[in-house]
This record gives sequence, structure tokens and C-alpha cells, in this order.
Amino acid sequence: MSTAAQTRYITVIGLEIHAELLTQTKVFCGCPNTFGSAENENVCPTCLGLPGALPVLNRSAVEQTVKAGLALGCEIARWTRWDRKNYFYADSPKAYQISQLYAPLCLGGGLEVGGRLIRLNHIHLEEDAGKLIHDGARNVTRVDFNRCGVPLIEIVTEPDMRSADEAAAFIEQVRMALVYAGVCDGKMEQGSLRVDANVSVMPEGAAELGTRAEVKNLNSFRHVALAIEHEAERQIRLIEGGDRVVQETRRFLEGTGETAPLRSKEDAHDYRYFPDPDVLPLELDAEFVGRLRASLGELPGARRERYIGQYGMSAADAETLLARKFVSDFYDEAVALGADPREAGNMVRGEILRHVGETGAERVGMDAGDLVKLLGMAAAGEISANNAKRAVALTLGEGKSAEAIVEAHNMRIREDPDALAATVRSVLAERPDAVRSYKDGETKVFGFFMGQCNKILKGSAHPKSVEAELRKQLDS
Ligand SMILES: [Zn+2]
Repeated sequence: MSTAAQTRYITVIGLEIHAELLTQTKVFCGCPNTFGSAENENVCPTCLGLPGALPVLNRSAVEQTVKAGLALGCEIARWTRWDRKNYFYADSPKAYQISQLYAPLCLGGGLEVGGRLIRLNHIHLEEDAGKLIHDGARNVTRVDFNRCGVPLIEIVTEPDMRSADEAAAFIEQVRMALVYAGVCDGKMEQGSLRVDANVSVMPEGAAELGTRAEVKNLNSFRHVALAIEHEAERQIRLIEGGDRVVQETRRFLEGTGETAPLRSKEDAHDYRYFPDPDVLPLELDAEFVGRLRASLGELPGARRERYIGQYGMSAADAETLLARKFVSDFYDEAVALGADPREAGNMVRGEILRHVGETGAERVGMDAGDLVKLLGMAAAGEISANNAKRAVALTLGEGKSAEAIVEAHNMRIREDPDALAATVRSVLAERPDAVRSYKDGETKVFGFFMGQCNKILKGSAHPKSVEAELRKQLDS
């Protein structure tokens, strides 16, 4: 039984999004930055923290961090430096991480999601840690240092989100911005994008934020949503039961969708940060930043506006095209080559995305020029609209040129009145009963006959010619 004055709670969410950069090498050494190598293949004295090894800053990591900042509306710091964050953990052989606490590379910024601005606090550059692999079968834990020293940016937001859905939508917008800027592959399933969520609740109308708990290492949109929802419910239960929320770090349990305590929340002073003596501060000049800004290309926001404003696409359709950059690029190329934006959009969202979804491909397996050709043939009445779709599907599947597909599958519309008349005659001869029904006034069997003819003709005759011939023979 509920009482009249039930308190309503507002969930408050801030995020830390960790994104691995797409550099060739690690941030402070020359080891390859690649995913999927054999364990401990990509290591050297520097990223293993051996005595005497010194870090050298990777220029490309700085450039990509700046590009991420520009893509997310940040101000770029003209002066930045590196700090040591000291802690021991088995995945970090140096027992410290080179990070940026006091002078991050990018400041402020934000993105609009569903009409609300979600502000960023800053973006900083740091090195990733290694990976612990818990092998339950052999009851051992192995450590893989390949990821140790991979450049990682941490995108820190203000506590501006108010629901799990809003947080997930924001992460997707950030993911897209990073992918379009060419600085991260955005693959959450490979860990190149990982999220920590700071969650608190407060009674509606309260002036102060509640105590927050941080849920670490969420690596899918579903986990982010589940963890936030569970965490908010847990905190409300605590408060309603007369308890207090404790500031702590929690982990997400995949099996149950719940969160569990990991450690009490540490503050910056616990890490004994100090300026790293091995890496010098960096000064960025306006020319350097300007060059990176010019190299950014069109970002998702501008593309969305173009799709909706210029091409008359619905917001949902635009989002579908934008979600994968290579698909959106392919669409843009087809339009630039002269395809009708609406027709091309339908085909890309239909046949092409179906193929991409089914095969998991990371590129569109046909030339944009071939799509333009097929759409042009359909518009000129040389092939049927249905055959244009079939031809796209076959081109993707067989990897042949669109023209070869059209010829090989006899898709071209031929005006051959004798052949058409013979086909119609044979269809009618097979179903004298249906012909009688038609003559008795049951006109809906006409559609059935059209279907039968089309099955045989497979788009090789113009639908208008088929219809005319059918009527002629039925009405005679
Ligand atoms: Zn190395």
C-alpha cells in the first residue's frame, strides 16, 4: 500500500568514457598498437617499466586527442603537462600511470542529445594498463602487457544526464564523433571504448546532488543501461530504508545485471600525483591546432543536418545511415555521383545495410558508381524497381559489376510483344477456373494473374505492358 506523499527521485549521471586512439604505435614507445596479437608480443623495456627505459611522447597521440577535443566542441589547451598517478596493480608494471590531472589537453565542450546539452568537463590523454586474464580452468591469472601504454583518452562529463537511456544516447553520439574524426574505432566489444558511470540519486526538488557511486568498466550499451538502472534502484532502496549511500567504486556483474562494491572511493591525493619528470610539458601553437581542425572533415552533427535539411530524410533514417561511417560515406559518394538522395537512401538502408548486418562487413562490398548505374536504369525503365534491388543484393553477394549482374540474370526489360503474349496465354491456359471467375465479375483475380506472369517474366517486361496484355486477352 502506498502512502500519499511518496518521494520521487531523480537519477544523476556523469560519465568517464575511455577511448583507445588509432595510433600506429603506443603513446610512449614504438611498440605496435594493435588488437588481437599473441599475449605479450607487443612489449619493450619502456612499456614494461624496466630500469633505465625512458618514454618518448607519440606526436600522433597528441594530434588525435586534439582532434577528439575539436570534434566534441572542447577548447584546446595551449600548454599541457603530464602527471604520474601512483598505484600498484598487477596489470601495471611501472606501478604508476602517466596521465594528466592538472593540465588536460582539452577543456569544456559538450554535445546535444535529444535537445539537451550534455557538457564535458575535459578530455585528457593517458596510457592504458595491461590486461589480466583469469583462467578458471587452470586456476591461474595470466597478465598480458600488450595493452600497456596504448594511448587512451578519458572523456569526462559533467553530471548532466538524467536517465540510463540518455546516458546511452550520449555515449553513442560520442562514439560516432570519435569514429568520424578518425581517432577511435569505437568497438566496445573489443574494449576500445569503455565507460565508467558515476550515479547518484536525489529527491525531486533537492538543491544538492546525492552521494555518488562509480560503476567501473562497462563495455556495452546494454551494460551501461543495466548498471545505471540497478545502481539508482539500489541507492533509492538504501535511502528509503533510512541508510546512507557510501561513496565507493563498484563493479558490474554481467550474470545478474547488478553492481557490487569493489573498493572505497579514492581521491586524487591518494595517488600522490606529481609532474612526470621524464615527459616534458607541451606547448601547442595555433597553427598546429588549426591544421588539425582543417583535417577533421564533416562531423556527424553536420552530416545529420544535411541529410534532414537538404535531403528531406526523417531523423530516424538519418541516424540509421550515420551509425556506420563507411555506410554514410558510401551513401554520400553515390549522391555525389548523381544518385537521387531519396532512392539511394532507400537502397542503402534496405539491401545494403541488410547485407552489412548479415555479414558483419566493415565496408560496402560494391562501388557507389554501380549503385548509381542501377538506380539510373530503374529510373529510365530499363530494369524494374524490384530487379534493381535484386541486382544490388547480387552485386554485394557475388562481387561482380552491376552491369554483369543485370545481363547474367536477364534483368533488362525487353519489349517483345510476341513473347509476352505467349507467356500471358500460357498463364491463362493453366487456370481456366480463375479465368471464368474473372469473367463472372470477380476482378480481384486479375492481381493473381499479374503475379503469375511476373513470376515467369522476372521483370523482363514492363509492368504496364504485362497489365495491358492481360486485359486484352481476358477481355477478348
Ligand atoms: Zn613498448
